[in-house]
Order: sequence, then structure tokens, then C-alpha cells
Amino acid sequence: MTPNSISRLAFALVLGALLGAVFGAALRQPVAGAATGALAGVLLSMVVDTRRGLRLLDWLRGPQQTDAPRDQGFWGELAYRIERTLRQKEVAVGHERERLAQFLAAIEASPNGVMLLDANDQIEWCNTVAAQHFGLDPTRDRLQRVTNLVRSPLFVAYLQSGVFEEPVTFAGPAGRSTVSLMVRPYGEGMKLLLSQDITERERAEAMRRDFVANVSHEIRTPLTVLAGFVETLASLPLTEPERQRVLHLMGQQTNRMQALVGDLLMLAQLEGSPRPGADRWLGLTLLLQRSLADAVALSAGRHTVTLREGPELEVAGVESELLSAVGNLLANAVRYTPDGGRIELAWSLLEDGRGAIEVNDTGLGIAREHLPRLTERFYRVDGSRSRDTGGTGLGLSIVKHVIQRHGGEIDIQSEPGKGSTFRLLLPGLRVRLAERALSARAEAAA
Ligand code: ADP
Repeated sequence: MTPNSISRLAFALVLGALLGAVFGAALRQPVAGAATGALAGVLLSMVVDTRRGLRLLDWLRGPQQTDAPRDQGFWGELAYRIERTLRQKEVAVGHERERLAQFLAAIEASPNGVMLLDANDQIEWCNTVAAQHFGLDPTRDRLQRVTNLVRSPLFVAYLQSGVFEEPVTFAGPAGRSTVSLMVRPYGEGMKLLLSQDITERERAEAMRRDFVANVSHEIRTPLTVLAGFVETLASLPLTEPERQRVLHLMGQQTNRMQALVGDLLMLAQLEGSPRPGADRWLGLTLLLQRSLADAVALSAGRHTVTLREGPELEVAGVESELLSAVGNLLANAVRYTPDGGRIELAWSLLEDGRGAIEVNDTGLGIAREHLPRLTERFYRVDGSRSRDTGGTGLGLSIVKHVIQRHGGEIDIQSEPGKGSTFRLLLPGLRVRLAERALSARAEAAA
């Protein structure tokens, strides 16, 4: 009991005794009156204390959203101290909650999947990325056993094996992706699962393997042929015309390898160099005239090759790359158009400001199903025709690279037996009317 309460009790006792004695004296019973008065004083004081105690208990039983009862004395101080302790704890819990939320937000922002499992492999928490990797719902699936939800046998076996030195790779939801998973045990039987979507990496790796296999195959074929000719020359007594024929065929194979290596180097250079700046302007007319002259030479009079001139334009880009792209399109048109066919090179400025360079031919055309894959490396519609005419299978992939590096795109329209149109579309900020064309327009307007 606090001194305050004791003095209140003593005060009630003394006041009760005095009042009791006064009333008792009137009844000629001063001692009994004083005793009764003292007892009544003590009882009254106890009733007041009990009421205050009950009020505090009521407050404690509730949510403590209002202030604690502000009584005087013992109960007042007790309520004040309890309330102060509770408020301090609330503030500390608030800080902890905030820190936890920040921590979870940081994990949520991670590009990798993070999942926490308890000792029974039940999901404690997972971020959105992990939910995507495993095909889960982060809220609905909480506290579910993960092996009931993720059914991949590889995943289940890995988790149950308890051996987590190496990561495991398994198919993501609906088999559309490949996920790599690492497990780190912590605490008492709990697990931290770290997942990563490696679909792109796997695809790039498969492409790299295919590419190396393709290149090896493309080089091995002419090399085998060359080796055979060398052996023939070395071991057989050939007549002069036979020798000339063998040398001619050897020359063809050497050219084929040279073309292949040239295209490979071009691709490597395109992939390894930064995007061309948009501030080096070239005259388009001259560039296309040079390409056309090469095509005329390649056709050697077998086709009608024409140039349909458009407005005088300038293009911001790399001359050698653009020459290579247009040169590849024209060479294809020559190679895939039977003798007597027509080939036309044209350019224009589209209404939306883009520039278009177009190669039309009346050649073999391409069936619709091949169109989406045409710009893949080594993709050929007709392998033997491509090789017989000196194709490497890399031409259109070089064209696509070049045009994409210039911010543009390639559009292919073709119909088997009728011919093809390959269009290179350059973005407006890389195409402008040449000075001369501009002043001619201004004069005409004046
Ligand atoms: P290739 O060296 O085989 O010509 P490309 O990448 O240049 O390789 O072309 C891929 C394939 O697209 C060719 O093998 C050919 O089948 C087809 N192709 C390309 N241009 C034409 C065209 N103008 N007409 C018909 N088919 C074409």
C-alpha cells in the first residue's frame, strides 16, 4: 500500500471514529459510537478502493484504446504505470512491424524467388516471384505443404532428399519455363528456397550449341570435298581438262568457306559493337545505286534489274552495314529468281515519317509457314538450292541484325511461285529529306 492509501485509510478511520463519537455522545454511547464510526470509515474507504480496482480491471480487459482510469492514489499510480508500460511495448512492436515490412518489401523486390518453409515443409511466406516460379498464390497457399502444391517429381525428390549442395532444375508451371532452385536449411528444420527463372539462359545456351554445331557442319562439308579433290589430284593422273575441272570445283568450295567465314565475322561484329549513332547522315541514293550495280553484276544479264527512285533521302547509320543488308537482299533476289525474272530496288518516305527500302522479285517465293523463321541463323527453305547458289544461310539474319541495330524492322511478303518483297523500315528519326530535296520542295511551294 502506498503512503497515500494508508493515510486515506487512517483519515477515514479517524474521521469515522470522531463522527461516531459525536453521534454516540448524543446517545450516551461515545465509545461504541466511535468504534462503529471507525469501522464505517474503513469500510467506505475499502469500497472506494474496490471500485477503482474494478475500473482498472475493466480497462485492462478491453482493447485499451482509451486512456486508463485517472484515479488518485494507489490505483491511479498503478493504472498510470501499467498504461505507460503497455504504450512503450506498443511503440516497440510498431517499430518491429515496420522493420519486418521493410525487410519483406526488400525481398519482394528481389528478381529471384524466395520462399520460407517450416519444419513440415509448409509455406511460411513467399514473394511474388517465387509464387510465379512455383505456380502458387502467396496468400491462399500459406501454411500449405509445398509438396502438395508443386508436383514436379524432381522438385519433390530434391526437397525430400535433404541434400542441397547442388541446385536442381525443373520445369515451371505448365512446363512453360525452366526454374533453378537452391535450398538453404536454417533454424530448426526450416528451409529457405531461392529460385531463378533460367528459361532464357537455357534457350541462349541451346542456341549457342546449335550455332556451333551448324557452323562445324557448314565448314566440314566443303572441307571434306576439298580433301577428296586434293587426294584425287595427288593420286590420279588427270588429263588437263579434268585437272581444270577439279581446280574449278575446289575454287567453288573455297569460295563457299570464305563466304561463310565472312558472314560469321560480320555477325560477330554486329553483335559486338555498340548501336550506330543517329547523327552520321549518309546519302541513300548513292548507297542504293552501288548495291544495284553489284546485283546487276551478279545477275550477269539473266534478270531485268531496275531501280525505282524515290525522294532524295538521307539516312543516319553505318554505311557498310546498310550496304551489306541491301546487298544480301538483292543477292537473294538474284539467286532465288529464275532466269528471265524481274528484280526491282525501290525506296520511299512513308507518311508516318519512316523510310522504306524495298527489294521486289518475281522469283520462287516462300511458303507462309517458313516466313517467321526466315531470319534465323542457318534457316533455309531449300538447303541444296541455297548452297548451290553460294548461300551461307546467314544472309537474312545479318539483314535483321543490321536493321534492328538501326532501330528499324524487316517486313517480308511472299507468295510461292509469284515472288517476294523484302522491306527494310527505318525509324523516322534516322531518315530525312536531303538538303537539296528540301530546297527544291521549298522552291516549288513558293
Ligand atoms: P541463304 O544464304 O540460304 O540465302 P538467307 O538467310 O539469305 O540464307 O535466306 C534464308 C532462306 O530464305 C533462303 O535459304 C531461301 O530459302 C529463302 N529466301 C531468301 N530470300 C529469298 C527470295 N528473295 N526468294 C525466295 N526465297 C528466299
